[in-house]
Amino acid sequence: MRIAVLGGGPAGLYFAISMKLRQPDWEIVVLERNKADDTFGWGVVLSDETLDNLQVNDPVSADTIKQHFAYWDDIAVFHSGQKMLSTGHGFCGIGRHRLLVILQQRALELGVDLRFEAEVSKTSDYSVDYDVVVAADGLNSKTRAEFSEVFEADIDQRLCQFVWLGTHQKFDDAFTFIFEQTKHGWVWAHAYCSPSAFMRQRSDFA
Ligand SMILES: Cc1cc2nc3c(=O)[nH]c(=O)nc-3n(C[C@H](O)[C@H](O)[C@H](O)COP(=O)(O)OP(=O)(O)OC[C@H]3O[C@@H](n4cnc5c(N)ncnc54)[C@H](O)[C@@H]3O)c2cc1C
Repeated sequence: MRIAVLGGGPAGLYFAISMKLRQPDWEIVVLERNKADDTFGWGVVLSDETLDNLQVNDPVSADTIKQHFAYWDDIAVFHSGQKMLSTGHGFCGIGRHRLLVILQQRALELGVDLRFEAEVSKTSDYSVDYDVVVAADGLNSKTRAEFSEVFEADIDQRLCQFVWLGTHQKFDDAFTFIFEQTKHGWVWAHAYCSPSAFMRQRSDFA
C-alpha cells in the first residue's frame, strides 16, 4: 500500500506515525511545502485527555512531548479588573516548532519518507501513483478547494481580527484569558506559556 500525505503539519505527521506503527511495511510519503524547520505561530496547547490519547497511541513520541512542555492546572480569567481562578483543568503547552521537530524525528525513525520544499499543486495528481491520498494541508486547504463540491465547506468570514504575539511575560502559573474593553472595542487575550517558543523568542531577540 502506498500513501501520500499532503502537508507536514501536526496532523499529517501524526497520521504518518500512527499508520507506520500499525503497518510498518506500507510506503508513506509526507509532502510539505516548507523546510523542515520553518514554522509559524508560537505554541500548541494539549489537554490532559489529548495527552492520554497520545500516550496510548505512541508512548515514544508522547514521552518526548512531555519532556518539553509546560504544565498547568489553573485557568485565570481577567474581566472588569477582577481575576477569577478556576482549578482542576489539566493542560500542557509546547512550542509548535518543538512539536514539529519531535514528530518529524519520530516519523523518520519509523521509516516515513518526509519530503520538504515539495509544493502540492493538485491533490488529484497523487491519486494516480498512490492508493490513498490524505489531505492534511491545513486551514487554506487546496484539497478542500479542489473538491469543494464534495466537502461543501460553508465559510463565513467575520470582522474579528486575530494576531499571535510573543512576550517575555511567561504566564506559567495559569492558562490566562484577559478581557479588556478599549476605545477600539473588546480585546481578548488568550495567553499561555510554551517553553521552547519562549526560548526561541529570547534567542531571536538576543
Ligand atoms: C492562533 C492559533 C492558535 C492555536 N492554538 C492551538 C492550541 O492551543 N492547541 C491546538 O491544539 N491547536 C491550536 N491551534 C490550531 C492548530 O494550529 C491547528 O489545529 C493545527 O496546526 C492543525 O494542524 P494541521 O496539521 O491540520 O494543519 P497545519 O498546522 O496548518 O499544517 C498544514 C501543513 O500543510 C502544509 N501545506 C499546506 N498546503 C500545502 C501544499 N499545497 N503543498 C505542500 N504543503 C502544504 C503547510 O505548510 C503546513 O505545514 C491554533 C491555531 C491558531 C491559528
